[in-house]
Amino acid sequence: MIKRLIKKFFGSSDSETTKMAKAKKTTHPATAKLKTLTVKQHGIDPELVSNNAVRVTQTLQQEGFKAFIVGGAVRDLLLGVKPKDFDIATDATPEQVKRLFRRAFIIGKRFQIVHVMFGSDLIEVTTFRGSSIAGAPIDEFGRVLRDNTFGEQPEDATRRDFTINAMYYNPANQTVLDYHGGMADIRKKMLRIIGEPEERYREDPVRMLRVVRFAAKLQFDIAPTTREPIALMATLINNVPAARVFDEMLKLLTSGHALACLQQLRQEGLHHGLLPLLDVVLEQPLGAKFVTLALNNTDERVRQGKTVSPGFLFAAMLWHQVLEKWQAYQVSGEYPIPALHLAADDVLQTQTESLAIQRRIGSDMRDIWALQPRFERRSGKSPYRLIEHPRFRAGLDFLILRAASGETEPEIASWWTAFFAADFAERDEIMTEKSTALSKGKSRTGKKAAPLMPDMTENENTSSFNQVVEGVETTSAAPKKRRRRSKKTAVE
Ligand code: ATP
Ligand code: MG
Repeated sequence: MIKRLIKKFFGSSDSETTKMAKAKKTTHPATAKLKTLTVKQHGIDPELVSNNAVRVTQTLQQEGFKAFIVGGAVRDLLLGVKPKDFDIATDATPEQVKRLFRRAFIIGKRFQIVHVMFGSDLIEVTTFRGSSIAGAPIDEFGRVLRDNTFGEQPEDATRRDFTINAMYYNPANQTVLDYHGGMADIRKKMLRIIGEPEERYREDPVRMLRVVRFAAKLQFDIAPTTREPIALMATLINNVPAARVFDEMLKLLTSGHALACLQQLRQEGLHHGLLPLLDVVLEQPLGAKFVTLALNNTDERVRQGKTVSPGFLFAAMLWHQVLEKWQAYQVSGEYPIPALHLAADDVLQTQTESLAIQRRIGSDMRDIWALQPRFERRSGKSPYRLIEHPRFRAGLDFLILRAASGETEPEIASWWTAFFAADFAERDEIMTEKSTALSKGKSRTGKKAAPLMPDMTENENTSSFNQVVEGVETTSAAPKKRRRRSKKTAVE
């Protein structure tokens, strides 16, 4: 209350930017097109709105600020879909927002935003952006490097990417402010960039990837003027920092429509030569079935509300590249396990240059790949040790995919599935059955080993992943004798 009174009479000390923006009261062109939609016109179901998002708008409004739910959440609400996250737009500065909430953190350089936390629920609060990026620093291709100019709401609406993402919902009076005809485009199922498309893609080339993601995810058409410049401007994505491209790729792959997104990327000419990952995924004949299965599987998990591990996803997409290099290293004389690790290093290195695969994700990928040959060993203590591995589940899921794609024997995958599901006594039984079957003359794996999987059981100690890693570290210094011996094996 006291705070509010002080603010009323003296204004807030840190609201210089807001005050300046308010001082120039010129009418923005977007204001002329503004439509205010009532419940009857927009039909948003308040049940689908997050309580925490409402709490944030209420708190800000009680302090005299404007506050709206904005962006993808409004779009999803208008489509009758429960939004996965909620963004708030306000005329309060990040500092002012931070002061109003117990757990609030200012983050970001390019765009400063505030993360307001309620338990594990995260609400993102953004201050209205100004329309002038004239003074903002840009790179040599016109990409805006930093932009923290605050402004008025109509300017903020014009700075957003698509008409359907530029609507503001006020839970207090249940109205939607629509500055760019977003509601009409939702009805037409049309994705349309705001402003001059070439200029918008130049400012931020990631918008081209966003077009693809939303078109595939929402099954919307792309307006011809929004679509046309993409093929010409696609290479601009090369100048975007790798970490940002990675974030956008991850969103694309975990959208629940990964396969459709990748097909659309190809259709828009956005895949070729841009991201090595996509070249690999979309142009490898051998891995196509495996990748399709992996992506379908991921899409299904997302639709069922299950979590998706980025490490698993990227491991799947790059597996056939790993297999190719793995074989090549063995042909050149490496033992199978070190060869697998060298292949993993190569593949991860190439992808990291343009995709910045985070270290944690890279390490998950390595684990999943390194587990694969260990599934070949089904005797002695090995299976008992393997199921204790922290990535066993992911490794087994990966094995199941490989079996489903025809790369390895389905019998191995079902054996491990049964072994994993069994209790202690049953596991011993399964092992006894296995050795009885073996003594009756069957091969180690029950059937012939899959052609792409080298037999890891003869020379290498595969008892723990750490040992495997150590194996790699010593590879470059591996004695010549070992190499010669394994070359001979490879030739044989
Ligand atoms: P999703 O369902 O994937 O979260 P979203 O539209 O909410 O979709 P976010 O990345 O969360 O996407 O962004 C929130 C909002 O911020 C967008 O709806 C859009 O208004 C704006 N926005 C995000 N990225 C850009 C961009 N690159 N250029 C312009 N506006 C953007
Ligand atoms: Mg969002």
